[in-house]
Amino acid sequence: MPWTKDDMTWMRRAIDLARSGEARPGTNPIGCVIVRNGEVIGEGCNEVDLRHDATAHAEIVAMRRAGRKLACHELRGAVLYTTLQPCGMCTMASIWAKIGRIVHGVGRDDVHPMYFEDRHLDTVDFIRDAFRNDLALEGGLMVRECAALYVPPEADVPKEEQFNR
Ligand SMILES: [Zn+2]
Repeated sequence: MPWTKDDMTWMRRAIDLARSGEARPGTNPIGCVIVRNGEVIGEGCNEVDLRHDATAHAEIVAMRRAGRKLACHELRGAVLYTTLQPCGMCTMASIWAKIGRIVHGVGRDDVHPMYFEDRHLDTVDFIRDAFRNDLALEGGLMVRECAALYVPPEADVPKEEQFNR
């Protein structure tokens, strides 16, 4: 994948956001930046624990901020950068928000399965099944840096410490 300099810049920012989220206890280090015409319109990290809100994933937090900033729920032409492949909820929200392109760092197979609530459904399934056919999904940007944020796939995590137990 020939990534652009802008792609690298925005993913680096998403990684910084993920790290800032990591500083809060019990929070997953996931960061997201939404960019349109070279400008950040929304960004955030995972705030599930902070807000006691199961929907406060980094991507949703960033989408809400973008919607407030633009006073519009449609983010046509925007690119969403996220450190980890978005879950089904965030992918569908991106589809509803008319985001044009999703770029993620690590994919779901690069991290421990506890980061996802579904067993087999993949982000790609939602995009493939959407009415729109112009949403691009590109993964694998700055994989090494993003992977360092997460527990690796083969790690022996005690059941009671797994998020999706
Ligand atoms: Zn999500």
